Amino acid sequence: MNYKIAKRAAALSPSLTLAIDSKAKQMKAEGHDVVGFGAGEPDFDTPQHIKDAAAKALADGFTKYTPSSGIPELREAIAQKFQRDNGLTYKASQIIVSNGGKHSCYNVILATCEEGDEVIIPSPYWLSYPEMVTLAGATPVILKTTDQTEFKVTPEQLRAAITPRTRLFILNSPSNPTGSVYTPDELRVLADICVERGVLIMSDEIYEHLLYDGAVHCSVASFSPKHQEHTIIVHGFAKAWSMTGWRLGFLAAPEPIAKAIDAVQSHSTSNPCSFAQKGGVAALTGPQDHLPKWLAEYSKRRTVAWQRLNAMPGITCVNSKGAFYLFPNISRTGLGSREFCSRLLEQEKVAAVPGIAFGADDFIRLSYATSLANIEKGLERMDRFVRGL
Ligand SMILES: *Cc1c(COP(=O)(O)O)cnc(C)c1O
Repeated sequence: MNYKIAKRAAALSPSLTLAIDSKAKQMKAEGHDVVGFGAGEPDFDTPQHIKDAAAKALADGFTKYTPSSGIPELREAIAQKFQRDNGLTYKASQIIVSNGGKHSCYNVILATCEEGDEVIIPSPYWLSYPEMVTLAGATPVILKTTDQTEFKVTPEQLRAAITPRTRLFILNSPSNPTGSVYTPDELRVLADICVERGVLIMSDEIYEHLLYDGAVHCSVASFSPKHQEHTIIVHGFAKAWSMTGWRLGFLAAPEPIAKAIDAVQSHSTSNPCSFAQKGGVAALTGPQDHLPKWLAEYSKRRTVAWQRLNAMPGITCVNSKGAFYLFPNISRTGLGSREFCSRLLEQEKVAAVPGIAFGADDFIRLSYATSLANIEKGLERMDRFVRGL
């Protein structure tokens, strides 16, 4: 049978991250001692009080459909989170809870972009953004950045990329895959340009709480009511509360956009999991004391990994200021990122993600959401690999 695959699906590139991950898992299953730096998720467990709240909801029979955009209690708790953490006032009706931050991003793009629209995406980018834009029929416009600018877009670059067709500018600070964090001043300049030119900003702030070395998070929406009108904030529970498998994310948007997203969601996925939402309420309203502990641990690992990488011949790496990734430059090894990672996995049983997946073939992504022992073992092997090239 010759199946016809719709253009929109056929045009998608399969996820390289997942390909590497499945190869690493397969090697592990075959008994190989693989060290994995591929994970895009915390290695800590979800805090107990969050699990308890969801378990209680399940035991209490909270197992039916909820309002499509989330239970009022959770939307209210999220609105309060924005007030508390970002000084932003949102009505609960401007908050939409979705099946993960990724789903929130897709909802935003589907509800705001169509054929003929351009979406500006700085590279290195989170690999799903351009694919989502393409799925919506719009055109990704990639702004290349390098380690020379700590992977930050300059105001000149942004200004030059905006056309009458530009609909959305996607910002992700702290960044996956680079770990870079814009300063409030840098953000202000970029946000001002968008406001001036009438461009919406989708600000993916899922790594808001994962910051190091005194870096601060500032939401672009918080500069003024005008900035808030031009911004849709995407966020979720996956990273700061280690809830990747729960599939729970959220967004805050101007009312008309929230309404449109509500309609999209009500006809596609309906509500996110009912009892997971109760866990989300506990995550936002309960104790946050897990976070300093995780941050101290991440930061220790980051320093060790960063020093180790820079000691390797041909490798340079800017330190990350947020999230849990390092993005070393491998261009002086003479290998492309795909070949580098596949040989590293074959020869030394170390899994990393080729930068080409994020639009940057001179780099690879290493996640330090893994134990210090793994980091030391894996980087010793990578050191041997690089020296052998
Ligand atoms: C992890 C992540 C998300 C959201 O992930 P979900 O598991 O869908 O909540 C969104 N944006 C970035 C950049 C991420 O790394």
